[in-house]
Amino acid sequence: MPFDIPFIKPVMPPPEEVAADVSQIVSSNWYTNFGPFERRFREQIAAYVGEVSAATFSNATIGLQAALTVMLAGKPAGLVIVPSFTFAAGPHAIRSAGHQPLFIDIDPATLQPSAAHARSALNDYGDQVSAILLCNTFGIGTSVAEWEAMAQDAGIPLIIDSAAGFGSRYPDGHRLGARGDCEVFSFHATKPFAIGEGGALFSRDAEIATRAREFSNFGFSGLQGATAAGTNGKLQEINAAIGIRQLSRFDAVIESRRGVLESYRQVLESTGAGGLVPNADQSSVCFASVVFVDRDTRDHVVTSLRDQGIEARVYYAPPVHEQPTFADAAIAGDLHGTALISSRIACLPVYEDLPARALSALELATLKQ
Ligand SMILES: *Cc1c(COP(=O)(O)O)cnc(C)c1O
Repeated sequence: MPFDIPFIKPVMPPPEEVAADVSQIVSSNWYTNFGPFERRFREQIAAYVGEVSAATFSNATIGLQAALTVMLAGKPAGLVIVPSFTFAAGPHAIRSAGHQPLFIDIDPATLQPSAAHARSALNDYGDQVSAILLCNTFGIGTSVAEWEAMAQDAGIPLIIDSAAGFGSRYPDGHRLGARGDCEVFSFHATKPFAIGEGGALFSRDAEIATRAREFSNFGFSGLQGATAAGTNGKLQEINAAIGIRQLSRFDAVIESRRGVLESYRQVLESTGAGGLVPNADQSSVCFASVVFVDRDTRDHVVTSLRDQGIEARVYYAPPVHEQPTFADAAIAGDLHGTALISSRIACLPVYEDLPARALSALELATLKQ
């Protein structure tokens, strides 16, 4: 059923601007393989994050695979700590890199991976754990310092899946991108910073970015051919060109998305039906994630909004450990927080010109019970 107000509405550069970029690409005859647009885009996004080196990819899933492969090169197959309350791309990338996920719980107060659960997992599984794949849930920055300390104590890499969080800020005010060993972002059409298909990895260590970039180009290095594991995961010129255009207006986009989030917050506060996730107002706001007071309220609101033509969705349900291909994966401790939040969360559309009707519909849905 088509909705009057869809969940996602990508805003791309005007067609005539894209056409001008296509003309330039055609006249240069350089479509992919680290051309001039990719280079400019890579430099600009690294400068935007600040004090990092960048590698670009055809999508974030390949970026995560690159990060895990590069950080764990030469290590035997092991377990990678990852929350179950995330998108399946991370656990898939863990397996593609030759390892297995070890699912941990989230903190139901923040929806972020639970550091206490990760610590217990490290105690219980010891040397079997080869890395941590931390997730900035919904692109919202978590308290990353304690994870860095934990990974350092354990002598394992900390890779951060910040997929939806390009432009978001950590609680300390710094932009996501420069923490852990590296952070990976998605520029998929459904994310706040959208270029079609694309992704990037940032690291304070230039060597990590270089090796991740080589991974995306068959593991080729210099003139020796393949010197390490690799695949084909390069960003195309047209997507990089779109990215350059998107970056020039991205701060205004974030401001207006945060404005929509604030309007949702006001409706929720007046009805008492649920609340927003902490620190979401410092994110680039991929959508508005609301934790309702109980499952019945959540179900009622989702049904009511959808009946009113507004496409509310539920993320992440089922959580990854309940998805069939991960049914045999290891789980550390209990996943009570994950189960609780999966039963109470709903995600609402956020975009620049979201019709005000979305807000009145939420008000109606939360009052009418
Ligand atoms: C979107 C997303 C991905 C995957 O990004 P792609 O660019 O589509 O591969 C990975 N992890 C999380 C948390 C995401 O939200």
